[in-house]
Amino acid sequence: MGYGIVTEEILTALADIVGPTHIWTTYEKREACSRDETTTLRADERYLPEAVVAPASAREVSEILRLANSHLIPVTPRGGGTGLSGGALPVLGGIVISDERLNRIIEIDAENLVVVTEPGVITSEINAAAAEKGLAYTGYPMSVLSCHIGGNIAENAGGGNAVKYGVTMRYVLGLEVVLPTGEILTLGGKLMKDVSGYSLKELFVGSEGTLGYVTKIILRLQPLMKNRAALLALFADTETAIRAVPKMMAHGGIVPSSIEYIDAYCYRKACGFLNEELPMEGVEAVLLVEVDGSNQESLDMDIERAGEILSAEGAAEIYVADTRSTRERIWSVRRNIDEALRLTDPVQADEDIVVPIAKIPEAARGLREIEKKYGVPIANFGHAGDGNLHPTILKPAEMTLEEWVRVETEIEWDIFRLTDSLGGVISGEHGIGSKRKRYFAELCPPQNLALMKKIKLTLDPNNIMNPGKIFD
Ligand SMILES: Cc1cc2nc3c(=O)[nH]c(=O)nc-3n(C[C@H](O)[C@H](O)[C@H](O)COP(=O)(O)OP(=O)(O)OC[C@H]3O[C@@H](n4cnc5c(N)ncnc54)[C@H](O)[C@@H]3O)c2cc1C
Repeated sequence: MGYGIVTEEILTALADIVGPTHIWTTYEKREACSRDETTTLRADERYLPEAVVAPASAREVSEILRLANSHLIPVTPRGGGTGLSGGALPVLGGIVISDERLNRIIEIDAENLVVVTEPGVITSEINAAAAEKGLAYTGYPMSVLSCHIGGNIAENAGGGNAVKYGVTMRYVLGLEVVLPTGEILTLGGKLMKDVSGYSLKELFVGSEGTLGYVTKIILRLQPLMKNRAALLALFADTETAIRAVPKMMAHGGIVPSSIEYIDAYCYRKACGFLNEELPMEGVEAVLLVEVDGSNQESLDMDIERAGEILSAEGAAEIYVADTRSTRERIWSVRRNIDEALRLTDPVQADEDIVVPIAKIPEAARGLREIEKKYGVPIANFGHAGDGNLHPTILKPAEMTLEEWVRVETEIEWDIFRLTDSLGGVISGEHGIGSKRKRYFAELCPPQNLALMKKIKLTLDPNNIMNPGKIFD
């Protein structure tokens, strides 16, 4: 079945729905919606939509989807465009639905500990608004300053706090979703519990915009933890650092809010990028550990205990960040890894594997072997407390682009087979999107894949909703 194109008549109908100033066909607007932050994309891999529309209500989204469905036009939802798996790319053209006008925080309901929001709100704005009432949204990813909450729902984003607070899904109490056929669903509500029938809202969280367009979100909030304590543990070898993670979690009696792993390459690049003068000599791996809570004294004790365990497990040096500014310094190193690597190694493929936490040492060892096998550097960092690593394959300067395309694919296969053999999966938080679907097709159990396709076709019989993502 072929897709339809966006004709003049359809443009007129879209303008009638959203108003003539909220539909664009200019090259600039379409080009801006043709890319996200996926690093494997080359300059020639641009997927221009035929039109971009910005609806302001669920009713308008519904009318757009009914129109697109009746003319078989592909539709791609777009949030902040920070995705790392090509999810927001209109790979088959058609219409991009931008969330830029669905950008209101409708309500912070402190009595019920919830926020009700539209999808186009920048995630950090939810936290800022919640903080005014002494509350916090803790499911946010590291891209919190630029991603949108709708994109977080679609990707089931995780982040630096997931080891203690979990990922986005844990906080979603309710959703309003428009199906590709135009029906508007209201799922869940301001309810802490709900086992009334199948839990449909969970189906949409992490569905990468392929099952419906989210127009309203109810998220659980919790009391803002104002106090924190953190440390940076420096190790002379990777294996020792990585081995220390499950030991600290299982035997330390501490529930850290973050345990981040940074290899020597990323650490040096990020420190260099920030002009940061943290100790470097002999450092091969770094762990950033943070605890949060209400009582500063007990947090200081926890971080001291974490430091003792890490020292006993082989850390060469422990650097306790006991003030807000020193904490910000070490977090800044972690947050700026992506940016720093992109500056010096612009051609790269960043991965998002997740393995059981006790398997992290084996995963790290396997990655080193793959690096040696191909003679291609693989920088590594990630949320070690969740078993979620971001090995980043870096093109050597002397390698041609043709060679890179071949080698990168082979390395990705090796990384994903390694992950699979350790009981892991190929994406922990960034999603399959268009970037990983060929690997997913091979590695996902066939009966699971077949069920996913049945669900997709039940909700989206004409396959207009973000086609070309997750699977073909
Ligand atoms: C520097 C950096 C750090 C990052 N750190 C993390 C991290 O720690 N954890 C993590 O999980 N991710 C991280 N990411 C990836 C990215 O920020 C997340 O995947 C984020 O959730 C994407 O949100 P977005 O608004 O940018 O979505 P987009 O990239 O615009 O879209 C992502 C997906 O959501 C769909 N979508 C968007 N809006 C809707 C809607 N209203 N209804 C239905 N579908 C919709 C799109 O179609 C697409 O499939 C990082 C990215 C960068 C660049």
